[in-house]
Amino acid sequence: MNPLERHCSRCGAPAGAKCKNYRGQGKPTCKARLTGGALDAQAGRRAVARARRENATEAEVLPLLAYAGLVADHTAEEMYWRWRRSKAVAAEGWAGEVNGDDLLRDLQLIAVRRFALATVGAEAFEKLDGYCHRTYRSSSYWYGFWRDAFSGKRIEFAFERVMDRRPGEPAVRCTDWYERRHLSRDEFHARFPYQDEAPQPADDGGLAARLDEALIRKRSASPSTSATTTGSGRRRWCASRPCAAPATRASRSLRS
Ligand SMILES: [Zn+2]
Repeated sequence: MNPLERHCSRCGAPAGAKCKNYRGQGKPTCKARLTGGALDAQAGRRAVARARRENATEAEVLPLLAYAGLVADHTAEEMYWRWRRSKAVAAEGWAGEVNGDDLLRDLQLIAVRRFALATVGAEAFEKLDGYCHRTYRSSSYWYGFWRDAFSGKRIEFAFERVMDRRPGEPAVRCTDWYERRHLSRDEFHARFPYQDEAPQPADDGGLAARLDEALIRKRSASPSTSATTTGSGRRRWCASRPCAAPATRASRSLRS
């Protein structure tokens, strides 16, 4: 079936017309409009073009090897599978990036929005939720948005231009907003938790303190000491004690 026979759900081009970009100019047919067969044909055409381009580039970069027939002759099939492989690798790499905390936070958003609907009412919820999605395209901001909205931040939905404004007056006036405090930020975090608590320090029976003491004493006794003798003959520590840092680091790695 010719993909142009039906309208495009992506760019809104009517049946029979080519797809258009945001400026209204013609563009390659949107993927959403292509079905299996057309998608395969598109991938095939791209693979052929890629192979031709690759062969031409290599012949240009390595003319002597090309003359001797020593550069690889890339086929469309090879290019197709290379493309499929990079897609798979990219998808896998992306999936590996998913963070447990982020996942839990996005799951908590289900509860957050349900709570919001019950708390602020349907009309305000509609406005707040619409504002949130319009303003923050990434879901990683939505949790913070609801937390701020609940803790009394003013969320401004609509503005109107100030007519006959005098110098110094603002150019626009907010005409619709939401500003009510339902929960504090801490209450919100406690109600919709998603982050682990900081790890508790382990009980090492005083080992870290003993090591600190032993290592610092050992360092300060060596010739390159950071303890100096003052005019009055009393030893004192330099303001910056460079010997303290490695000892602390050593004991910290032992502690963990
Ligand atoms: Zn389209």
